[in-house]
Amino acid sequence: MLVVQEEDKLEPVDKHRALIIIDMQRDFLEKGRALFCGEHARQVIEPIQELIDQERARSTTVFFTADTHSPDDLEFNMFPPHCLRGSLGAQVIPELATRLDNTILIEKQRFSAFFNTNLDEHLQEKGINILTICGVCTEICVLHTVADARNRDYAVEIPRDCVASFDKEAHLFALHHMEKILGARIIQGTKNE
Ligand SMILES: [Zn+2]
Repeated sequence: MLVVQEEDKLEPVDKHRALIIIDMQRDFLEKGRALFCGEHARQVIEPIQELIDQERARSTTVFFTADTHSPDDLEFNMFPPHCLRGSLGAQVIPELATRLDNTILIEKQRFSAFFNTNLDEHLQEKGINILTICGVCTEICVLHTVADARNRDYAVEIPRDCVASFDKEAHLFALHHMEKILGARIIQGTKNE
């Protein structure tokens, strides 16, 4: 009997966990496009590739979110037009698009991936209660998604090397806020955890 229990423990399938990759789209990650976050932001691409591979090996459910706007979206009163539905800029970057198979794509119109989407239903349906959240920008769509996840009592982990922003100070504030105020766990990186 003990042996059976130990085998259970070694079971790689973690049905309770999901990986959510926020807005790794061409308009944010490619130089010259609408809201390029800067070269340093591209440093998260490789760790996110590793994170996806690592989580998939554990059969974790993987979600990609994609900021998706219509041309008259009121968000464009604050930001230049970006991620227009069907545009090249709205596509997931090619470095990650190769890993889109068997993942769930959540199109979102606002900062939070929970707002006016069916993300919560997907998570509930699968009995998921632990989320690893990464992507861009730390203090905008990552932060607001993490806040909404915590408001819904999901446990949240954020690998520090897998989030980035165009604004370093705001990035650091957001990490601190997510840890100290929202109760997310900031983990050092994909390698450590
Ligand atoms: Zn947007």
